[in-house]
Amino acid sequence: MAYSDKVRGTYQEIINGMKDAGLLKVERYIHSAQAADIEVEFPAGAPLKKVINICANNYLGLSSHPDVVKAAHEGLDSHGYGMSSVRFICGTQDIHRTLEGMVTKFLGTEDTILFPSCMDANAGVFEAVLTKDDVMISDRLVHASIIDGIRLCSAMHDTYKHSDMAHLEEKLQLHNDKRLKMVITDGVFSMDGDTAKLDQMADLCEKYDALLFCDESHSSGFIGKTGRGTHEKCGVMGRMDIITTTFGKGLGGASGGCVSGRKELVEMCRQKARPYLFSNTIAPPVVAGVIKVLEILSATTERRDKLEKNTEFWRKGLTEMGLIIKEGDTPIVPVMLFNAKLSQDVSRDLYEEGIYAIGFFFPVVPQSQARIRTQISAGHEIHHLEKALAAFKKVGAKYNILGKTKQEIIDMYGM
Ligand SMILES: *Cc1c(COP(=O)(O)O)cnc(C)c1O
Repeated sequence: MAYSDKVRGTYQEIINGMKDAGLLKVERYIHSAQAADIEVEFPAGAPLKKVINICANNYLGLSSHPDVVKAAHEGLDSHGYGMSSVRFICGTQDIHRTLEGMVTKFLGTEDTILFPSCMDANAGVFEAVLTKDDVMISDRLVHASIIDGIRLCSAMHDTYKHSDMAHLEEKLQLHNDKRLKMVITDGVFSMDGDTAKLDQMADLCEKYDALLFCDESHSSGFIGKTGRGTHEKCGVMGRMDIITTTFGKGLGGASGGCVSGRKELVEMCRQKARPYLFSNTIAPPVVAGVIKVLEILSATTERRDKLEKNTEFWRKGLTEMGLIIKEGDTPIVPVMLFNAKLSQDVSRDLYEEGIYAIGFFFPVVPQSQARIRTQISAGHEIHHLEKALAAFKKVGAKYNILGKTKQEIIDMYGM
């Protein structure tokens, strides 16, 4: 037996170490569809509890929208359950190409290629378009999947301080001798909810002849006047070279991702990106669902407008009761608690009050930056948000953190 007691013990020790440090992630079982109101089993074996979900990426409330569900059913009936092939062998249906065309139009790019997920898009894109003669210059807070993609690419890698344009320019000058330069950022940063300065970045990229890459996973469908993303908000539609995004968040929440941008770069991905070549693409019912999502979002801005209103209401409510939130205008609203244990205690007490929100602490966020990341949805009604605000007020009062400064909270609870 290869899996000896010694081997087992090695892993048990690691896992127990995580448990002792309070770092073991414990999953909560949701028995209902993803929505504002969900039914949760937590801890495992406990009776089901009805709670309001304020930590999903379901920004537009489309995860169980009846029209999307219906479209997925129809896609299942017309195109079957699975492809049993990768795209370039016999895994491309008409609806895959239709969806690529729709994404291109929605994002205002030249062409689009689907990937099984945005994680896969980011894992494949850099290696497909860059070589060891090139350089990737990324924001220091980019998403984990971008970091993995960078690791898989032979181009040189450098970083600039988060959203620091002077530092980015320095790095562009430093690497000016490279064959190609690519500047890499998230559109909306997932932990803080702040937005990349894409307008300034596009100017810099033009000045230094660099490619501009943006991951729009936390923006596609709702950031910008018509929800096209951060590039719309910053007025640089048409100036982006590569956008990656997911269909697993605002755009229906099922799965799948894409690379969208300059047509030669997309073609390079079709020829060379390994997660595209060697992994099945998005299943037909999901493709049909995403097509419906884009139809809905292209016809009306109603949902992103409602999300904007909900977000304003939520940010105002939290601020008025004296909680510290990260400033901004996106639906990602981190409530800062600084202390890791406090974030876990507040999360647990909120759950008791019927509000589902998770506390994040190191290493997911920097040390002494523990927080509860709330995420607002167009699927929330004002009554959901009022109930959640009341719970935050009650729990905030219990821990005596309402109206307190960062320093006062740290003095009480430690870093
Ligand atoms: C969620 C996320 C991804 C991964 O998306 P999947 O399609 O679920 O793999 C990639 N990039 C960013 C910025 C994300 O937030």
